[in-house]
Amino acid sequence: MKLENIKLKTDYLNFDEEFFHKVKPMPLKGAFLISANAEIAKLLNIDIDELSSKEFVEFVNGNTILEGSEPFAMCYAGHQFGYYVPRLGDGRAINLGELNGWHLQLKGSGLTRYSREGDGRAVLRSSIREYLMSEAMHALGVPTTRALAVIGSNENIARERWEKGAIVLRVSSSWIRFGTFEYFYYKKRYEKLEQLADYVLKQSFSEYADKENRYILMYEEIVKRTAHLMAYWQSIGFSHGVMNTDNMSIAGLTIDYGPYSFLDDYDFDFICNHTDVEGRYSFGNQPNIGYWNLSMLLKALSPLINMDKGKEILEKYPAYFTQKFHSLMCAKLGISESKEHSKLIQWLFNIMQNDAVDYTLFFRTLSEYNDRSEISKLFISDKRIVEWLEEYEKELPYKEGMKRVNPKYVLKNYMLQEAIEKAEIGDYSLVDSLLKIAQDPYEEHAEFNSYAKATPHQLKALKLSCSS
Ligand code: AMP
Ligand code: MG
Repeated sequence: MKLENIKLKTDYLNFDEEFFHKVKPMPLKGAFLISANAEIAKLLNIDIDELSSKEFVEFVNGNTILEGSEPFAMCYAGHQFGYYVPRLGDGRAINLGELNGWHLQLKGSGLTRYSREGDGRAVLRSSIREYLMSEAMHALGVPTTRALAVIGSNENIARERWEKGAIVLRVSSSWIRFGTFEYFYYKKRYEKLEQLADYVLKQSFSEYADKENRYILMYEEIVKRTAHLMAYWQSIGFSHGVMNTDNMSIAGLTIDYGPYSFLDDYDFDFICNHTDVEGRYSFGNQPNIGYWNLSMLLKALSPLINMDKGKEILEKYPAYFTQKFHSLMCAKLGISESKEHSKLIQWLFNIMQNDAVDYTLFFRTLSEYNDRSEISKLFISDKRIVEWLEEYEKELPYKEGMKRVNPKYVLKNYMLQEAIEKAEIGDYSLVDSLLKIAQDPYEEHAEFNSYAKATPHQLKALKLSCSS
């Protein structure tokens, strides 16, 4: 379809004005296309030729408003680092409407009623990171929002230094957050809370929408999806960085990519966000925070559901998480899901932690080694890992399947940094190269072999800030 023939829907605007704020995007000066994602264009039924047109840049820049679209920002609240903030909202994201079940949103397209002291903008660096990473996560089988395109500009944006403004066109089956419910709960707008719950049921849990106990069924599904999401993150070594309740998707998706990071070396205590001094959102603490966030959501849903029942469901979270994590880890090791194997897995994590082994490289090597030395050379000392391998090999791992679940490539921060530094001097070639390996991470791509090695020592565990 040509852009001019696309028609968007905006159901959210049927709500009362407290839910949103209609706002026009503020286009960036000197906008140009950095990269467009043909996979998403296909899902949206947009002609591939359109992606290289001037009109497409105008569309992502918010200059062209498609038929049916009435741009708006959503209102929400949230617990940030444990403290309740009564009004957040889309401070720099503007929703355009829905197409084929995908809700289109511009991030970085200017001020809204919810911008607070922010400028409504996103910089090139963080926009490239979000664009690439959401696609990488999808290819790794992790539920996530996605992205159609990223554009750059020559507009100066003030951060710790001057940077250039950019916009990502993100798409998702839902943009509702735990914090959207919290907003109406803390304002004691229970009728609106109920309207929101019915909307979410229709949008993300339609199989329950007509059931009498639909709110409790919805909560259970959110608990389950969140537990599974945490299991995916832990199994691939992904650290989100800012798991505030406003960054938790009601649909169980990875949402709002900020200072995230893949593990370089395995480190349970890894903190990717340098402002997170206490490590609330450290890698190893993510499953606990998932639980805490769900308990905040339960509180926000308390006017709609029986709390005893709700607590009972919340208490299923550890089992949902553990089962999924166990199953994903057994698949990574190519062994059956026998409960007995959890000892083998924990033993491995202990050795990896002790020897600071590159997480992704270890599992990929394990998927294809012929000789134990190929594995043991990744470790500081042979002895412990060889003892582990002796036990592991007794389980007769199924190597064939392992390469399909252990990626050769993940987008480590140093790789993204390299693409960003090039982009900042006008060379966007690496963005497209990284998109290619991000979307197809289990394949060999021999030309990118250097990215499959352990992270170079001086580039390990780069810390990032929220200022994006
Ligand atoms: P985040 O931690 O990036 O998810 O953002 C937390 C809140 O701050 C959300 O309400 C954002 O919309 C808002 N925000 C972040 N950066 C900006 C910005 N540059 N301008 C306006 N609002 C922002
Ligand atoms: Mg956010």
